Formats: sequence, C-alpha cells, structure tokens
Amino acid sequence: MKCDALIIGGGVAGLAVAETLLPSLQVTVLEEERLGGLAWQLGCKATTECLACGVCRSLEMKRKASRFPVLLGERITTVERQNGGFKITTQKRAIETRFVVIATGASPFPPQRMPQFGFGTLKWVYSGFDLEKKLNREGLNEFAPFHEIAFIQCVGSRNFQEKRGYCSQVCCRYALRLAENLLFRFPHLHIDFYYMDLQVFGKKSEKLWETSEKVKLIRNLPFAAEEGNGKLSVVFEGERGVSREKYDAIILSVGMIPSSGTKRMVELLHLTSTVEGFIKDYGGGVTSQEGILVCGTASGPKDIETSTREARMVGEKIKRMEN
Ligand SMILES: Cc1cc2nc3c(=O)[nH]c(=O)nc-3n(C[C@H](O)[C@H](O)[C@H](O)COP(=O)(O)OP(=O)(O)OC[C@H]3O[C@@H](n4cnc5c(N)ncnc54)[C@H](O)[C@@H]3O)c2cc1C
Ligand code: SF4
Ligand code: SF4
Repeated sequence: MKCDALIIGGGVAGLAVAETLLPSLQVTVLEEERLGGLAWQLGCKATTECLACGVCRSLEMKRKASRFPVLLGERITTVERQNGGFKITTQKRAIETRFVVIATGASPFPPQRMPQFGFGTLKWVYSGFDLEKKLNREGLNEFAPFHEIAFIQCVGSRNFQEKRGYCSQVCCRYALRLAENLLFRFPHLHIDFYYMDLQVFGKKSEKLWETSEKVKLIRNLPFAAEEGNGKLSVVFEGERGVSREKYDAIILSVGMIPSSGTKRMVELLHLTSTVEGFIKDYGGGVTSQEGILVCGTASGPKDIETSTREARMVGEKIKRMEN
C-alpha cells in the first residue's frame, strides 16, 4: 500500500496529526495495540464541574478515526529508505510512504522499580495510574472506608541518578484532580500531599490551587513506606531525624518514561534520543532523520492538550513541506 504520511501510534497525538493532514494528504495510522493510547485508560475527574483534565479529548479524537485508514495490531519489522521516502514492512504488508510521524508515546513509570514504597507488596499502596484506571472503570468507592490518605509525588521522576531528572509535567495536576474528586465523594477524608514542587498550570489551574489548600501540603519527599499493626506509614527525613506518619492508603504519583514502542523506533529508525530515552526533537517535531517527525509524549512528558497542539503543528509542517 502507498500513503503520503505513515503515522506510527494511534494515541491523541497520532490521531491529531492524521486529522490535520486530511483531506489534502493520504494518511495511514499504524497502531499496534488500541486506538486512543494511554489517555484512553485515564478517568474523568469531574465533580459537580469539569476539572479540565483533557481526558475526554481522546474520546473525541477516537470518534474521528473512522475518517482515515487504521492498521490495528500490526508491528513494524523493517524500515528502508526508497525513492526519497520509506518502505516500511509489518508482519502483514509493505507500506510506501513519503513521511513518517512517530507518535509512539510514553508509559507510566512502573512503581515496582522503587520497591521501597511497597507497591505490589503492601496492601493499599496504589499508583496514580491505578486510580486513573479505577475512575475510568469501576470508580473510587473502595476509598470510602479510609480516613487518612497520603499522596507521594515525583515517583519515578526528578531522579538524576536514575537518568530521570526531568519533571513529568502531568502528575501534580492529575494528583490534585484525583484528590479533589476523592474529597468531593468522601468529605471525611484527610489527605496529606508530600511534594517537592507544585507544577500547576494551564486550564482551571486556579481550581487546583484551591484543592492544594484543602490538602495538607508537606514539602518533603518520603523515602519509604512500611506496614505495622495493620497501618501503613510513610517514612521521611524530618527536622529531628527519621519520622513516620500513619495512613490507611498511599498513592504514588508516577510520572512517565519512554514507551517500549518509542525505544524500538529509536533503534529501528536510527533516531537520536535524549539521555532519558525519549526521541530527540530538534524543534517543531524535527528528528535526526530527514522525513521522520515526532510528536506527543514520544519526545518527552507532556499533557494531552500539549501533545495534541504539538501534533497539529507537525501536521501543518508536513503540509508546508509537501507544497
Ligand atoms: C498516570 C498518568 C496520568 C495522566 N493524567 C493525565 C491527565 O489527567 N491529563 C492530561 O492531559 N494528561 C495526562 N497524562 C498524560 C497523557 O497520558 C499523555 O499526554 C497522552 O497520552 C499523550 O498522548 P500520545 O499520543 O503522545 O501518547 P500515548 O497516549 O502513549 O499513545 C501512543 C500510542 O502509540 C502506540 N504505539 C507505541 N509504540 C508503537 C509502535 N512501535 N507501533 C505502533 N504503535 C505504537 C501505543 O499503543 C499507543 O496507543 C497522564 C499520564 C499518566 C502516566
Ligand atoms: S476534561 Fe476531564 S474532567 Fe472535564 S469532562 Fe473531560 S474528562 Fe471529565
Ligand atoms: S509534575 Fe509534579 S509530581 Fe510530577 S515530576 Fe513534576 S513536580 Fe514531580
């Protein structure tokens, strides 16, 4: 098959590029798992009002996907340069294209990689991604019996030793929205918010600053979670040495790391990556390889709105290059 632009990844970014290129160019989206990407798994955090989390944008984008060809469940095996463009092979077909757009996204940081926080070993230790998925599917009713909850921020981000010195951009905001949603449903809850720095900006940020006044902000990042006498504790370095605070549940606000699909694209397409493994964007989606552009979280952590905006700019750039 032939197209003008092959978009690899059908999350909000990939779908936004495809939408921008229509109808002037022939586009094909190649998605190896499910359309909508990571945003499709996140939950609506609205209370009596919309909290502008942007998640419903993935629904909107997915609805429009019927307007262009989507190759679902196909995996790229080889890439060759050919006649000024590319010949890309999957397990099912060969695709000739002039441009390639990488929109292969990021993954939530797996909290098991920091076993000191007890994820997967201590009951009632959740990741922020668990809460997002619960909101998306069954809701947060299991939090009703709890009284004291701790959010721990920057889990998996801002760690220079692990080559993840970057800020994941979204976790302060999604955590505050989740806290707002929990307090709305269960007003008896007391929430402590352990943080380093509050990254709160964009739409309805004033509402999130209000939420930050409803939780107890503690500017100190704990280094462990423990269990004793049926209660969880977070352990942190206090003014008088090591301190412990007891909770019913702990939520680890995980950030983003490059997805395995993004790492595979770096190797297969010989792209330059950042020290953290994201695809290096030299400005406006330009990568180290001519004819290959990048957008969304494949090039670094960002929210849905920024990923979509960036994708539209990449689409406009390709249209200009074609003219
Ligand atoms: C826990 C958590 C909570 C978040 N909460 C919010 C929030 O409330 N609001 C907000 O704005 N943002 C939030 N985000 C960020 C949001 O998820 C991203 O901004 C958004 O998903 C980026 O979209 P994308 O299309 O760039 O990537 P993705 O959504 O990751 O989509 C990439 C797609 O590419 C596919 N793919 C990957 N590799 C390949 C390959 N090699 N071949 C073919 N297909 C491939 C994947 O299957 C996926 O469908 C959150 C992120 C996390 C981790
Ligand atoms: S932006 Fe978020 S909170 Fe608002 S309606 Fe959409 S999904 Fe719900
Ligand atoms: S957004 Fe907030 S929680 Fe996430 S890495 Fe940045 S400062 Fe830490």
